[in-house]
Amino acid sequence: MPLYEYFCDDCQKEFTLLQPASVNKEETTCSECGSPKVTYKFSIFTSKIQGVSAASKKKPVTEDDFPNKDIFKLPIPRHISEL
Ligand SMILES: [Zn+2]
Repeated sequence: MPLYEYFCDDCQKEFTLLQPASVNKEETTCSECGSPKVTYKFSIFTSKIQGVSAASKKKPVTEDDFPNKDIFKLPIPRHISEL
């Protein structure tokens, strides 16, 4: 299930909800104050998928493309895991 980011117009707070993709976003209420005046911002799940597909559009890379194969022993860069 994707995570949805909302902004509440009443209490000015951002909140994130785990909702099925089929949920009616117009009927979502604020998790802080219960106000129906929330603004849907974006889906975290969707932005993750877009990041993956953008990366996969590059030409396939094999280990032989790297002069220094030790790069594969390094931990995954933090900014990738936080996308
Ligand atoms: Zn609120």
